[in-house]
Amino acid sequence: MTGSNNITVLASGNLGKLKELQAAMSDTGLKLQPQSDFAVPEAEEDGLTFVENALKKARNAALHTGLPALADDSGLVVPALGGAPGIHSARFSGQGDTQNNEKLLQEMLPLHGQDRKAWFVCVLVKIASANDPTPIIAEGYWHGHIAKLPSGTSGFGYDPLFQVDESGRTAAQLSRAEKQALSHRGQAVRILRQKLEH
Ligand code: IMP
Repeated sequence: MTGSNNITVLASGNLGKLKELQAAMSDTGLKLQPQSDFAVPEAEEDGLTFVENALKKARNAALHTGLPALADDSGLVVPALGGAPGIHSARFSGQGDTQNNEKLLQEMLPLHGQDRKAWFVCVLVKIASANDPTPIIAEGYWHGHIAKLPSGTSGFGYDPLFQVDESGRTAAQLSRAEKQALSHRGQAVRILRQKLEH
């Protein structure tokens, strides 16, 4: 198929996620085009859950383009911090990734010796139109631990603090392919792909 019929708007402004999603979906029939190509205004992420925010982003993109839309909402959940940074992961410090990581380490200082368990969650929502009553929803989880110091240079966000295995490697020390095989986004993408096939 050609033309705009099979274009799906990717409702994300985050370049790191955009690259990972485009790579992961590149061999599917979906032709993902970022919403910035259509000058879609950012959706208000005022939901209380990842799924609500993903749906809001997808609906906003579909509404402004008249095209099907795919959105993701994701974040880091640290149970010892009452679930923070959670749905506020992107804007935890009000600044960038480096400051978000610093704030996370600061908040974990008083918890010294306690559980440093954490997980990433990713919710993908695909809708055919803004008023689609049956969104396709796929969720993925990635369990790990928060390191005491950042390491690694790849990836984005909290990757330098997210220890993925016993060796203490962080997500920022994985290749893109390794991360895709393990990550919350990789898992959500695989589930979404299965759902799209049926
Ligand atoms: P969203 O754009 O509202 O979904 O915000 C997601 C935020 O969660 C990102 O800005 C990161 O701070 C964090 N996050 C989500 N996925 C990852 C990941 O794979 N690695 C590191 N941080 C992530």
